[in-house]
Formats: sequence, structure tokens, C-alpha cells
Amino acid sequence: MNSMQQPTPAQQDLSLDPFWMPFTANRQFKARPRLLASAEGMFYTDVEGRQVMDGTSGLWCCNAGHGRREIAEAVSKQISSMDFAPTFQMGHPLPFQLAERLTELSPAGLNRVFFTNSGSESVDTALKIALAYQRAIGQGTRTRLIGRELGYHGVGFGGISVGGMVNNRKAFGALLPGVDHLPHTLDLERNAFTQGLPQFGIERAEALEALVTLHGAENIAAVIVEPMSGSAGVILPPQGYLKRLREITAKHGILLIFDEVITGYGRVGAPFAAQRWEVTPDIITTAKGLTNGAIPMGAVFVSEAIHDAFMQGPAGAIEFFHGYTYSGHPVAAAAALATLDIYARDGLLTRAAELESYWAELLHSLKGLPNVIDIRNTGLVGAIHLASRDGAPGARGYEVFDGCFWQGAMIRCTGDILAMSPPLIAEKQDLDQLIDIVSKVIKQTA
Ligand code: PMP
Repeated sequence: MNSMQQPTPAQQDLSLDPFWMPFTANRQFKARPRLLASAEGMFYTDVEGRQVMDGTSGLWCCNAGHGRREIAEAVSKQISSMDFAPTFQMGHPLPFQLAERLTELSPAGLNRVFFTNSGSESVDTALKIALAYQRAIGQGTRTRLIGRELGYHGVGFGGISVGGMVNNRKAFGALLPGVDHLPHTLDLERNAFTQGLPQFGIERAEALEALVTLHGAENIAAVIVEPMSGSAGVILPPQGYLKRLREITAKHGILLIFDEVITGYGRVGAPFAAQRWEVTPDIITTAKGLTNGAIPMGAVFVSEAIHDAFMQGPAGAIEFFHGYTYSGHPVAAAAALATLDIYARDGLLTRAAELESYWAELLHSLKGLPNVIDIRNTGLVGAIHLASRDGAPGARGYEVFDGCFWQGAMIRCTGDILAMSPPLIAEKQDLDQLIDIVSKVIKQTA
């Protein structure tokens, strides 16, 4: 077992101070760092040579597992042949090819693609498209945005404004004006230990009607939700909920945005959650799994109608004043094309559906362990919700997360919720091994 009382040679050579780590308790981490050195298939190897199962696909992004040679080769080849080319008033074939490939996967009608470099950028792009679209069609009073409590939409100012994770917002002032939030859909009283989508809670979508009444439909541009909230701890849409949101938004001319940064590219058993749950929004944001996490890239899918509303003015005018230096970056696009080849060849975009019932049984076998108050699952994602220790919310979750790491499994914790999202290449025995470790550590920390 690692111990910082006896720093290993690898750690002695490494100064931990200058890197200010994101979303990390820096002082706690640096007192006993969890340092990964290499990765292959389902496993990381840490700096001391210990194997750690990747129970979270990195950060929900390495859906095809680690060390994929095809991606490495595509990236290396692209850097050698053309390292960078702009996409502002210039172009190169790769993002065009990639956009076409992506529209073969996306829900029918969502066939225009805007490239970004991350989930946060995809969200801000989607919000800006929604606002500009409403103006373009003569609905300029529609400036309000609606998100959801516990929603996570990245860390841009747009994303934290529509997001609903309190800690991500509260240090940063007033944020975007004119934003409201729907209630979240976590309901431990009625839905605890449901396998798959919870039965109760469709009525929470009706809160949107109340917000429309309050503000007036003519003032609301868009609603953004994650079809399944990932970062807040795997919060699932109750049965019928997404469909009801779609009905209400369509009725009132409000755009519906699905943030599929986690659910996109196979996590819930279809290319997109929109397909799995048969609800088509107007805009879908993605990132992460698009390149298997190997190179930063995001993609925003919009309907042709939205795209075409921007194409009305004089042909020489720039239609949408937005974009990133690295939008459609050739190296990222090459990584994405290689990733999509792997997903197609290995059938990974539907693999979560094949594993879902096995995974569900396995996860739910932990019911009855000490402090476990809920277990949630869909596709190849799951959460174990632990009771908080008195006066120390998050302490138990962190202890299990940390304990799992030292015993050979990387999971995530959000407060006292443990989240897992293994690579889609997982075999049943990998899932057994992951759940064995988690179960053991939950018992040890009881
Ligand atoms: N949206 C959702 C739903 C996410 O889960 C995340 C990241 N976990 C983001 C946006 C932000 O993505 P990024 O960290 O790449 O900016």
C-alpha cells in the first residue's frame, strides 16, 4: 500500500506544488497523491506499478478503453501531415468528414454540427445558438434560459448559470441574468433501489408549465437538461419525464437542449440518450467520448431548421459570430474519426444495452450493505448512494472512493454518492472485479 510517510522514488522527483489541480481538494490530494502513469484496456497502472481498474472511463470519456493504437496512429499521422489549420474563413476536409460521420449516428433531423473543444464550450455554444436563433426568427424577446437543480453543464459562465450544482456557482457572483431552474428528479423516498428508470416523478416536468406561466412563453428561449445527470451522482429521468418536457417545450416554441456530454457515444446503450429514451431535442451537446478522451474535442448537434434560420442574410455575411481557434482541429478530428471507427467495428455504441441487465443485477446485489440508501443504474452507468455521516457530508463517499483506489479500482464520488461508468469494452468478469472491490471497501469503511 502507498504511504506518503515513505515517499516513493517516483514521488520524490515530482514537485506537487505548482500544479493547481481542478475540482480537487489540493491539500488533501497532495498529502497522499493518487498518481497514474500508464493505461491499457480496462486498467491504469499507477506510479508504483500497481494496477487500478478504470471504473469510470477516465472522466466518463474513454468509452473504448485505453491505449487504442488506431487513435494513437491517426493522431501521430495527422500531426506530421498537418498539425493545425484554421476553420475561420478557411477549411480542411477533416471536420467536414467528421460532421458527416456524426450525422449518421445522431437522431434524425439533428444533422448540423458545430465543433468545440470541451463539454463546457459545447454548452455555451448551444446556449448562444439558442439565443441567436430566437432573434433570427423574430422572437427576440425570448432571452430567458431554464436549467435544472443539480444539473451540471460545465464551468463556463453560461454553464454554471443554467447548472444547478451549488458549489460550482456560489463563489462567482451574479452569473447570467434571466435564468430559472426546474426541480431535480432525485426522489429517494419513492424511487430508492429502482432498477433502470424510476417509476415516479413525471410530474416534475410540469414545473416547466409553471415557469412558462410565470415568465410568459414569449420570454423563454430554451430549456437545457442532461437526459441523465451524471456529475451530480447519476440521477435518472423518471419514466415519461423527458417526453413531457419535449411536449411542453414544443407547445410553447421553446428549444429543448439535451446535454449529452456524458450520455453521448454509447454510455446508455444507444449512440445518444435521445435515441435510447426516444425523445428528440432541438440541440445536443457532446464531448468526452467523441475522441475517446484522447484529444479534447466537443460537438454540438443542431436541427437543420435551426441552422437554416442563420443562413438567411446576405451570402457574404458571417452568419454566427462564434467559434474557437481549435474548432474542428485536424488532430482532434483525426482522433474522433479513428474513435468512431472503433465504436462501429466493435459494436460499442450498443454494448451498454447488452451488459445492462448483468450490470444492474451486480450493482443491486449491494443492497443491504451498511449505509447504502439507494442504487441507481442505466446502460453501463451506476451509482451507490451512501448515507452521510453525521455532521460530515461527503466524508464517507470520499473514504470509499479513496479506499477503492488503493485496493485497485478507480470510481468517482460526488458527496456521498459513488458513481461508476466503466469502459464499454468491459467483460462481465471486469464488472465482477470492480463491484467486488467496491463492496469490500464499503464494508471496511462501515
Ligand atoms: N456537461 C456535462 C453533462 C458534463 O458531464 C460535463 C463534464 N463532466 C460537462 C458538460 C463539461 O465538460 P468539460 O469538463 O469537458 O468542459
